[in-house]
Amino acid sequence: MVAHSGSPRPERTCVGCREVAPRDHLMRLVRESAPDGVAARVRFDPSGSAPGRGSWLHPDSSCLELAVRRGGFARSFRSAVDTGSLAQELENPDFTRTWNR
Ligand SMILES: [Zn+2]
Repeated sequence: MVAHSGSPRPERTCVGCREVAPRDHLMRLVRESAPDGVAARVRFDPSGSAPGRGSWLHPDSSCLELAVRRGGFARSFRSAVDTGSLAQELENPDFTRTWNR
């Protein structure tokens, strides 16, 4: 049986902790296109509406760490991805402020 709570807010699953949360509590990430054989870079999508397959993550470095360690991004994007710059971006106060809604 599927129970509908009546909440109109769409929910997404965090690629790190795997918890389901309202999408406005999560950050969207997208994969940039890359040539064959090259790991595509994953970047944050502040607009939440960039085209392509998206992945969702809590604005929390522990969720990012979990996602990287468990291969959540690779699973979500169905290919090897480069997440090297994400931790740095997440630690940038100017960046995280935009997500504190
Ligand atoms: Zn999470």
